[in-house]
Amino acid sequence: MDTMRIDLHAHSTASDGTDTPAGLVAAAANAGLDVVAITDHDTTAGWAPASEAVSPGLTLVPGAELSTVSIDPGTGRQISVHLLAYLFDPTSEPVVTEQTRLRLERRTRLRRMAERMAADGLPIDIDEIFGLLPEDSPPGRPHLAQALVRAGLVKSVDEAFADYLSPRRGYYVARRDTPVEEAIDMIAAAGGVTVIAHPFAFSRGATISEDTLAGLAARGLTGVEADHPNHDAPTRARTRELAGELGLLVTGSSDYHGTNKTIALGACTTDPGQFEELVARATGYQVVKG
Ligand code: AMP
Ligand code: FE
Ligand code: FE
Ligand code: ZN
Repeated sequence: MDTMRIDLHAHSTASDGTDTPAGLVAAAANAGLDVVAITDHDTTAGWAPASEAVSPGLTLVPGAELSTVSIDPGTGRQISVHLLAYLFDPTSEPVVTEQTRLRLERRTRLRRMAERMAADGLPIDIDEIFGLLPEDSPPGRPHLAQALVRAGLVKSVDEAFADYLSPRRGYYVARRDTPVEEAIDMIAAAGGVTVIAHPFAFSRGATISEDTLAGLAARGLTGVEADHPNHDAPTRARTRELAGELGLLVTGSSDYHGTNKTIALGACTTDPGQFEELVARATGYQVVKG
């Protein structure tokens, strides 16, 4: 058998991807993946439809990408941390409560961004945007980006981010995310494992320090994503080295978002041994085999 191809970070229409959960699973099979994780932002709504679509030979890893924040102890600055959580009990009360709060927070925040844009004369109708989304789903800036594309103001989602949606533009509004330490504890208590997504992707904004990462490892963090499209080669190498020093597992993933990004499924992958270890440490939920 050829080497297993494992992609542990992908989004569906349950958050800000463009493939339905079932479509994501079908796309993973078509791409020749052996394992794919569904990791929508702040929701597990895609788990059931994705599970039903798993075909023979494919393994689905139910997960989520939690919106969390780390306070830099030196500067007091808030640093956004995307925390991948896998194989946790999706009915865990604290997890359900916090994800529900975050989905509401995402709606409030996106509405405020849309109001700033509308006040500037941009043709953005937030109720129309929300009307296109599943009820109770977590909207994000990609949904504003698509509306800007539809309005003909930009040609692509990427262009919308550069011209309108980045924090360097006047329309950006921050979210109140979960303190990352609390999120790690919450997922561990729900039997899951946690991996920091693209920890040192500086192109996305300020990143955590190596000292902060060491503290999170001591707290019970399970792993770090080293191979990610937003990590350059030196960053990937350094992340692996740190993982070795801190006893963290190492993953690699595409962070696929369908046509909202240009990255293909399987663009980065995870070593099978690391994947097995990750699954072995989780007790809250099981992988779904086709
Ligand atoms: P939000 O969570 O609402 O702040 O939006 C962040 C999301 O936007 C990320 O999860 C990515 O999916 C997406 N994103 C961030 N930067 C870009 C970009 N330059 N082009 C396309 N999508 C992006
Ligand atoms: Fe996203
Ligand atoms: Fe992310
Ligand atoms: Zn992601």
